[in-house]
Amino acid sequence: MDASITDVAPPRTLVGRLRGAFAACRTALASTSRLALDIALPTLCVACRAPVSGDGVCASCWTKLSFIAPPLCERLGIPFVYDPGPGILSMQAIADPPAYSRARAAVRYDDVARTLVHGLKYQDRVDLAPTLGRWMARAGTEVLKDADAIVPVPLHWRRGWSRRYNQSGALAKVIGDIVNVPVAGRALARIRATPQQIGLSRSERARNVQGAFRVPVERRPEIEGRRIVLVDDVLTTGATLDACARALLRARAADVDVLVFARVVEAARNPI
Ligand SMILES: [Zn+2]
Repeated sequence: MDASITDVAPPRTLVGRLRGAFAACRTALASTSRLALDIALPTLCVACRAPVSGDGVCASCWTKLSFIAPPLCERLGIPFVYDPGPGILSMQAIADPPAYSRARAAVRYDDVARTLVHGLKYQDRVDLAPTLGRWMARAGTEVLKDADAIVPVPLHWRRGWSRRYNQSGALAKVIGDIVNVPVAGRALARIRATPQQIGLSRSERARNVQGAFRVPVERRPEIEGRRIVLVDDVLTTGATLDACARALLRARAADVDVLVFARVVEAARNPI
């Protein structure tokens, strides 16, 4: 008995030890790969890079973003201070109606929104597009509901080359995937390079982009008779979007609406 126990015991102990060693290795490997995963895929606030749970922005940046919600001008999407009733337009929409039918924006263009737009536009932060696109899809529910195609505002090819990608195209793709509407990424072409709009007055901006866009003949079937949602990152005076809408309407689009991430809201205003 004693002998058999002695005979059997050592291998068992060895197996037990080996099992223990393997288990320890597995645990170590698991925590190492978890660590590697944490390093490879950190969850950070897309605006300030502070750690966040989930994705998007941290609580502090969230409170600094001004999401646009009704009541707003049916036409331009400018928020009203109080609700004037359904269908009431802003003075701006009556005095200077744009070529597009309706515009909607996710947020006001202020500090955090500016950081996000600059990241997307000038720092190749493609990682921002899913979050911004998600907010835009929500803000644009009305205009996306009946859309046949989404068209991003194009960059001139020279600028697209130096900046490597079109930020409006990245947003359009995210929105198209969410609402299941095709993106006509090449339907609109910028036929001449325009100086940057920054620092120009409203009328200078309009002149700057006049006739700068066109629907190439071979792309007309993607536009003709279709309801289009034009997508861009920011609406400042709306001159670029207006020029794009005119080009789409010239190509016989049935209707053109606009959806942007952020829009400039000069001051709280109401129709009366
Ligand atoms: Zn933040």
